[in-house]
Amino acid sequence: MPPVNLYSDTQTRPSEGMRAAMAAAEVGDEQRGADPTTRALEARVAELLGHEAAVFLPSGTMCNEIALRLHVRPGGDEVMLERSAHPIVAEAGGPAQLAGAMIRALDGEGGIFSAAQLEAAVRPAGDRYAPRSRLVCVEQTTNLGGGRVWPLQQVREVLAVARRHELRAHLDGARLMNAVVASRVPASEYAGGFDTAWIDFTKGLGAPVGAVLAGSGELIEEAWRWKQMLGGALRQSGILAAACLYALDNNVDRLAEDHEHARMLADGLAALPGARIDPAAVQTNIVIFGVEDAPKLVAQLAERVELVAIGNEHVRAVTHLDVSRGDIEEALQAIAELLG
Ligand SMILES: *Cc1c(COP(=O)(O)O)cnc(C)c1O
Repeated sequence: MPPVNLYSDTQTRPSEGMRAAMAAAEVGDEQRGADPTTRALEARVAELLGHEAAVFLPSGTMCNEIALRLHVRPGGDEVMLERSAHPIVAEAGGPAQLAGAMIRALDGEGGIFSAAQLEAAVRPAGDRYAPRSRLVCVEQTTNLGGGRVWPLQQVREVLAVARRHELRAHLDGARLMNAVVASRVPASEYAGGFDTAWIDFTKGLGAPVGAVLAGSGELIEEAWRWKQMLGGALRQSGILAAACLYALDNNVDRLAEDHEHARMLADGLAALPGARIDPAAVQTNIVIFGVEDAPKLVAQLAERVELVAIGNEHVRAVTHLDVSRGDIEEALQAIAELLG
């Protein structure tokens, strides 16, 4: 039996229905704006996120990197993000190389910081010594923060501080739809107040390739220059966009199932003497738990359950559409044999 794959929600395989939709897609030359399916996806995501325009990109990383490049001016502009944010930990130093950004890491709780923390981090205007505060980024849901949902009120407070200081604001919505399903707050409520926002189709939504970055018409036109420069312009991308449209139609509501499975896993782990976790903190599809030796546990479990060690004392498990209730039971059984 293959191991239960809780490595990440990127591990999903396109379903039969999704493959059929891809095969049937109407296509054209995306680079010339002539792929109808990609254009339909862009229009749909722009509306979903409460923005004027959107652009299809090969990955969420490219969404973040292009957005940072759009907002950061040359000459020491500072970007404020939570310490565990994806552009800091997992984009190969891209913010330094591509945007020339100075990074200011904020110490949040579960990947979430407060408006007061942002306020305290903003540099005084006109200070010749300090970097220029320019951009604040929010990650919804928090990945390494454990799949936490930023409360809408807190998003609004952070945006209010940003506006008061004339900062730009960017939403990394890799798992925004998980937050939407968990909180029943519409995506546009979370995303509409940011200058740029994006969603990933290759996480819980189950598509093989693709992310869409939204913003004003002007910003998205500028994003196109960077897409072209980075080699992100595509040709008959309709076969990919069709998978994303299929995901929006079929794979959003079912995220609730992933959240139930994550909670079930968390409850099971909480009962094990060798695992530290507060199941109440598990809000979506990511479960991070404490153990004595994370790399060792992950290695010992590899044949039965695929997990990720985060540092030496934490393990991450992510549920997704290819993980069943039975898989969670099997994973808990395997973990209990080592930690019980
Ligand atoms: C996965 C992820 C990204 C990057 O998306 P890719 O499509 O893998 O490039 C960015 N931010 C967060 C929070 C993520 O989880």
